[in-house]
Amino acid sequence: MADQAQSTATLRLTVGTLRIVHPITVPSGPVAASEVVPALQGLVNAVVAEAERGQTISCRKGCGACCRQLVPVSRSEGERLVQTIAALPAERRERLQARFAAAESRIEAAGLGDRQGRSDRELSAAYFALGLPCPFLEDESCSIHPERPLVCREYLVTSPAALCAGAAQEGVTPVAVPKVSLAARGLQDDKDDWFPLAMLMAWARRRRHTATRRAGPEWVQRFLARLSSASR
Ligand code: SF4
Repeated sequence: MADQAQSTATLRLTVGTLRIVHPITVPSGPVAASEVVPALQGLVNAVVAEAERGQTISCRKGCGACCRQLVPVSRSEGERLVQTIAALPAERRERLQARFAAAESRIEAAGLGDRQGRSDRELSAAYFALGLPCPFLEDESCSIHPERPLVCREYLVTSPAALCAGAAQEGVTPVAVPKVSLAARGLQDDKDDWFPLAMLMAWARRRRHTATRRAGPEWVQRFLARLSSASR
């Protein structure tokens, strides 16, 4: 990556009610979609910064209540996270893999390994009722904070943090952040394709290993086209 040619453009977007001006840099040549995920992380960060402007956010390091929710992850992000785990020191990697294996067993035992006709809302509620911490959560903080999924970046609240642990999420006031992360789903296959983050390793065992390669700017164009059609 370091010696690859890079392309930079300034994006000027209207996302929901927000006007975003954001420079984005991606590899110029053909790459897997996972290699443009850092640029998408930067774009989501810019949208979140604009959405939270002027508000008092309650989220703090050490509060991981929301990290028991179902976190939908796109295939492109999944590939990036698998690479992130593979690059960790062996001891840390093994600890993480053990936590993923335990999470997978609990999800399967609860019958939540597939949707079984449930709506997104029903699946999310059943998942949250498990009280299952994200395998990346350590001491109630995200152990991969710079690499956390796009959807994790979009979840911020202004209500007291203690409310986030309530089963029904009563009284929780999320910041109205446009869900730019939705555009990452299906970036590769044009399908709304996602899996729960806690099933990352199970997904990795089943996934196709031949990732499509496109020029970095082409991936960004596809992402923006998906964002535009999602917001219509
Ligand atoms: S990836 Fe990090 S922020 Fe997201 S749910 Fe897991 S621990 Fe929380």
